[in-house]
Amino acid sequence: MMVGPVSHLRFPMKPIQLFDPASSTYTYVLFDQLSRDALLIDPVDEQIDRDLATLREYGLKLVWTVETHAHADHITSAGRLAELAGAKTAAPLGCGIGTAGVQLQDGDTLKFGGEVLKALHTPGHTAGSMSFLWRNHVFTGDTLLINGCGRTDFQSGSAEALYRSLTQVLFALPDDTIVWPGHDYQGRSCSSIGREKTTNTRVAGKTEAEFVALMNSLNLPRPRRIDEAVPANLTSGLRHDADGALQMQPLPPSGAHQGTYAGDVSPELAWRWVQSGEAVMVDVRTDAEREWVGFVPGAVPVAWKQWPGMALNPAFDQQVREAAGGKKLVLLCRSGVRSVAAAKRATELGLEAYNILEGFEGDPDADAHRGRKGGWRFRELPWRQN
Ligand code: FE
Repeated sequence: MMVGPVSHLRFPMKPIQLFDPASSTYTYVLFDQLSRDALLIDPVDEQIDRDLATLREYGLKLVWTVETHAHADHITSAGRLAELAGAKTAAPLGCGIGTAGVQLQDGDTLKFGGEVLKALHTPGHTAGSMSFLWRNHVFTGDTLLINGCGRTDFQSGSAEALYRSLTQVLFALPDDTIVWPGHDYQGRSCSSIGREKTTNTRVAGKTEAEFVALMNSLNLPRPRRIDEAVPANLTSGLRHDADGALQMQPLPPSGAHQGTYAGDVSPELAWRWVQSGEAVMVDVRTDAEREWVGFVPGAVPVAWKQWPGMALNPAFDQQVREAAGGKKLVLLCRSGVRSVAAAKRATELGLEAYNILEGFEGDPDADAHRGRKGGWRFRELPWRQN
């Protein structure tokens, strides 16, 4: 038998698959056989001792923890692993996990030893969701499950986006790519792109319209732990300190505004509410501002004033009522001025309306530049530009 440093070449490289029975979550350990540098995908808080024991058992040094998305069904141990094992944390840019050291964009890579993990943006289950490619393995999180896929009815999910992620991103991989899902509820371990492409009952052979109709008719129960898990996962599983806790409470409107709308919320709290499905975000800026400066994925555009002449939008009342759909509203503008006026009007209409402090761009700094002193973009919450 061949021994020595090249012996690993004779064995196919496989991830270590670990299972959390309480949430049916798979955690994956990938490592470089020579350097022993390791990477963990979707670690689960309650399993941190198991994960640390696995690293010890294999003689591995944890260099990265990576999330496929901000989970609603379990809490990540990424923050604690960073503290205990010295790992760096990475998460998809669009997930609002502000504590992650690296905010991944489509095509970004993470190195561990001589190995490389590549991020693929696969939105749909959530707006920020990613899959990760390593050699001939793809880790699909809740985007693609074995003979299934993640739900799309909360956390800025979109059945249309998921259809495109499945058919145009994942199914474009070679058929023999091994699929490692984020969950399985029936004891199955892995699949392949070729098999899912032809046999996945949610998506195989379906048009986008058929897939969307199916996803919108699922009527799934709300995840049991969503209210606890999503906020915790937005901070890598670490609970908020005293300052953080304060920032995560709405503040009553002060001074002359007292009692005229439901309250002021930090951009982070607004995003948490949107992610958990308890609030709808309405962007009250003009079409031109969203177009030129950028927008928040999933926010409903209802202009307060509109060009030309910044006249009040005559359809505001009707549009904002439709946008709310019975949920509370968080209102976003450029710097938090128009959103107060819009929140007052929405309150008069009987809606529970909050103003998002600082707005999309924040106040101008001493050089009259915006985006450097607070605001949605400054706080690195998800946004896009056309
Ligand atoms: Fe999920």
